[in-house]
Amino acid sequence: MATDITTDRLRELAETRSAVGKVLSVFINLDPREFATPSARSTEISSVLDEASRTIRDLEGLTHDERAALKADVERVSAALTNGTDLEGARALAVFASEPAGLFEILKLPRPVDHSVSIGDTPRVEPLARIGTGELWWLVLVDRQHARLLAGSVDGVVELWRHEDDPRARIDSGKSDQDGRSERRYERSVEKEVDNHLRGAANEVARRLRHVRVAGILVGGPRETASHFKDLVPAEVGKALKGRFDVEVWTSSADDVLKAASGVLEEVTAARDGELLDKVDAGVGTGGRAVSGLSDVLAAVHERRIDTLVIEEGFTAKGVRCPQCGWLGVSAGGQCPADGTMTEMVDNVVEAAVGRAFGQDARVRYLPAGEDATRPVPESIAAVLRF
Ligand SMILES: [Zn+2]
Repeated sequence: MATDITTDRLRELAETRSAVGKVLSVFINLDPREFATPSARSTEISSVLDEASRTIRDLEGLTHDERAALKADVERVSAALTNGTDLEGARALAVFASEPAGLFEILKLPRPVDHSVSIGDTPRVEPLARIGTGELWWLVLVDRQHARLLAGSVDGVVELWRHEDDPRARIDSGKSDQDGRSERRYERSVEKEVDNHLRGAANEVARRLRHVRVAGILVGGPRETASHFKDLVPAEVGKALKGRFDVEVWTSSADDVLKAASGVLEEVTAARDGELLDKVDAGVGTGGRAVSGLSDVLAAVHERRIDTLVIEEGFTAKGVRCPQCGWLGVSAGGQCPADGTMTEMVDNVVEAAVGRAFGQDARVRYLPAGEDATRPVPESIAAVLRF
């Protein structure tokens, strides 16, 4: 039931709108530095869910039906989370529920977030952008009889799939009689089964890749098997392969896998961020497919031209939004230039822009600010455009 975060899923969530009821969005922090033991984690989960119940009870302006549906949502969430949901690798949880909208989703997040409870007409997806969701990396682990798929970023990974084949067992069970089979032929059959095993893993990865956009794929495992695997993957998977790392394939925890991959992962992530900023510089310099600065970026968001939004970590700004068409601006008030509706104030127009960007299937990338930055984001916010 716990799924990974994908840009596709974020887009769907950003576009979910319930005509008949409200949506409950809950973020639960499970930072292992703060909540080290399973019991500390469950205490934190119950305390946030209690807060959700209180919020639903006290919130004004809800109809009787909306309140009843939200109460039922909290109960469903509580039942799912106390019922042995696998929390391995999760540093936080994002929960979206709305019975009237047919929505029930618990996402394991690879990075801690502040806990929060909100109730609105749409799911609150903005905090998800901060965990690098636009930059989802896949780690495929393979050895001669095992395959695993994990997804995440330098901040943490969660497991999506695992599979075990035992080539020898398959050959043995298929042939009760070994007479006339030379050792060499037997070994050849084993190699053929290993081949089938790796081919199966390659096809599984390819099948899953059709539904998500990833920054790239790293392959973990023994050098020889990883290289054999690379030869077998379909072209679309091959294009996404960015590196290899050593790891114990079957018994490593998600955290161990991340530790093993982190060197390569940091390298490929930095290279990708560098390319992104190159694109911004080139596009802004030529007046082409990039903009920088808040007001140009907001205009591009409204025109649905965003391919990738690049934001300096911690950058916020007050602004306005048109309740009619969603137009976002930096002015202090006044009418929407598109339809003349009176705009409303928003505390953080950057967060609002991130939500809109997800709604148009854009990537969102937060880059470090100040001393941590290898290169600054021009004017703190910029975007690569689709057209
Ligand atoms: Zn408007």
